[in-house]
Amino acid sequence: MEKGRQGFVRRLGARLGVRAVAPGGAASDLDELLATSPDALIVHREITGEILAANKAAIDQYGWTLEELRQRTIMDLAEDADRETMTEAFANQLGTLVHVGEWQHRRKDGTTLWVSTTTQPMTYHDLPARLVIAHDVTHRHTTLEELTHQGTHDTLTGLPNRMLFVDRLNNALARSARGTRSLAVLFCDLDRFKIINDTMGHRAGDALLQTVARRLREAVRQGDTVSRFGGDEFVILAEDLGNDVDAIAVAEQLTTSLSTPLLLEGQEIVITASIGIAVGNASTHNAEALLRDADTALYRAKDAGRARHELFDADLRRQARERVNTESALRRALDAGELLVHYQPIISLDSGMVSGVEVLLRWETPTGELLRPANFLSVAEESGLIVPIGLAMLDKACARAGTWHRQVADPPTLWVNLSARQLTTPGLVAAVAETIDSWLPSPRAIGFEITECSLDPSDSLIEGVVGELAEMGVRIAIDDFGTGYASLSYLWRFPADVIKIDQSFVARLGEDREATVIISAMTQLARSLGKQVIAEGVETDNQLARLRRIGCDAAQGHLFAAPASAEIIERLLIV
Ligand code: C2E
Ligand code: CA
Ligand code: CA
Repeated sequence: MEKGRQGFVRRLGARLGVRAVAPGGAASDLDELLATSPDALIVHREITGEILAANKAAIDQYGWTLEELRQRTIMDLAEDADRETMTEAFANQLGTLVHVGEWQHRRKDGTTLWVSTTTQPMTYHDLPARLVIAHDVTHRHTTLEELTHQGTHDTLTGLPNRMLFVDRLNNALARSARGTRSLAVLFCDLDRFKIINDTMGHRAGDALLQTVARRLREAVRQGDTVSRFGGDEFVILAEDLGNDVDAIAVAEQLTTSLSTPLLLEGQEIVITASIGIAVGNASTHNAEALLRDADTALYRAKDAGRARHELFDADLRRQARERVNTESALRRALDAGELLVHYQPIISLDSGMVSGVEVLLRWETPTGELLRPANFLSVAEESGLIVPIGLAMLDKACARAGTWHRQVADPPTLWVNLSARQLTTPGLVAAVAETIDSWLPSPRAIGFEITECSLDPSDSLIEGVVGELAEMGVRIAIDDFGTGYASLSYLWRFPADVIKIDQSFVARLGEDREATVIISAMTQLARSLGKQVIAEGVETDNQLARLRRIGCDAAQGHLFAAPASAEIIERLLIV
C-alpha cells in the first residue's frame, strides 16, 4: 500500500511537476489519476485556496460531498488550532514547486484527523492551481499521543505522574505571579495501605488505589490536578486559593471523599489518609520548595497519629530549619568524636548478676551538655547519618567488650540497638561480621535489639537481614515489645532469643491491673516459645517484685543503674 502510494506520487510528479497540465486532454488525464489514487487528492486555486476538484478518497476522508467541498477553501479543512499557521503557510507556498506539511484537519462530523500533505503547482482548466495530496497519518499521531500520555501518566490510575505534576505546578506558579491568588500542594498518603496490600494481595491493593484515585479526582475542582507519585502517595495541586483556610477546606474535601467505606473483594474497608499541605505563590515559593514543605507537613501529620491534615506553617518552618542545623552539627560531631557510648547493665533476676549491657548513644556537645538520642536520633535516621554513627558505636563498644572477655569471669552479653534504616543499608551484615571478628571471641557475645515497630511485617527485606544476623550466631532481641501493632505474630516469625517488654507497661505495674495482666501474658507466651524476657525501665522495688512474681528473666532500669560510661559500669562487673 505504502509502496503503491509512493509509486503513484512519483508518476504524478512526473506528469504534473514537470509540465503544466494543459486544458482538455490533460485534465482528463488528471481526472483518471484522481480516480485511481488511494490518497485523498484535492485541487485548489493557487491564490484563493478555493477547492476546484477532489477525488473519491478525499470525499471519503473528509465526509463532505464534492459540491460541499467546492464551496470551501483548503484552509477551511484545517482544525481551528491549525488554521492560522496553515493560512500563513499557504501564503508562503505560493509560487513554490513542491511543498510538504503536516496538519490537523477536521472532518464534516467535527472529528479531527492528521494529514501529511504534498502540494505542487498545476494548471486546472486554465486556472493556476495546486494539487494537494493529503495522506491520513492520524494513526501515527494517536500512537505518539499515547506514548506521550504513557510518559506523563500513571498506568494504574491514569492520573498524571510526578513529571507532569511538576510541569503543571510550574505553570500554575507562573500564572500565580500575575495575580494575588495562591495555590496549594497537598501530599496525601494512605494510612495502613501497606498492610491492606500485604494481607489482601496486590490485586486488591491495585483496585483500592484506583478507587482512591477516582474519589480524590471527584473531590477537587475541574482545573485542579490529582497525581500519583507512586505507591500510595497522591499529590494534589489546587489553584486559585485565597488563603490557608481555602487549602484546608480542600484537604477536608479529600478526607471526606475517602470516608465512605469501600468494598474490596467482598470486605468492607475503611481507608484514611494523612495529608500535608503547603500554600504559596510565585513570590513565596518555587515548585521544589512547595513540594518539600508539603512533604514535611505530611511527616508531621503521620507523627501526630495519622488520619489528619497538617499545614506547613511558621512553626514547621522553624522546626525544619532546626533539623537542618542539627544535621550539620551531628555530622561535625561524628568527625570530632563527640558521640559517646554509654552502657546500662541488665540484671539477671535469678542470680542478681549483670547478665547483659545495653549500648546507648550519647552526644557530648562542645558546651559539655550530654544529649540523649531523643534530641537527635530522628535527624540521624532521616539523613542516613545513623549508618556511619551506628558502625562507629558498634566498633567502640565491641572493642570495650573484648577487654571484658579477657578480664571478667562471666562477661555480660553486649546489646546494641539497630534501627530499620541501619538494617536496610546494604553491607550491614558484612560490616557487623567483620567488627565482631576483630574484637569478640564469638558472635554469641553480642546481641542486637530491633524495635518491634521497625519489624514491618510486609517488609521482607528486614526479615531477611534479621535472618542473616541470626544465622551468624548473634542474639536477637525484639525491643519495645508490646508497642507494635501485631506483637504476638512476631514471636513466631522472627528468630528472636529475647523480648524486651517496653517501659510503658513496666511504668504502669502496680498502678493498673491491666499492665500486670499484659506483662504476664507476654511473658508466658515468650517463655513457652523458649525466649527470654527482659523488662525495661524498672524504677521501683514494687515493680521489681511484681516482675519477679510474673517470672521475667532479667530487668534493666534506674533502680539498678542508669546508663553511664564504660569506666563506671565496669565497677559492677565481677573480676
Ligand atoms: P531503648 O532501646 O528503648 O533504650 C532504653 C531507653 O530507656 C534508654 O533511653 C535508657 O536511657 C532509658 N532508660 C533506662 N532505664 C530507664 C528507667 O529506669 N526509666 C526510664 N524512664 N528510662 C530508662 P535513651 O538512652 O535516651 O535512648 C532512647 C532510644 O534511642 C533507645 O530506646 C533506642 O531506641 C535509641 N538508641 C539509643 N542508642 C542507640 C544506638 O546506638 N543506635 C540506635 N539505632 N538507636 C539507639
Ligand atoms: Ca534498646
Ligand atoms: Ca526499648
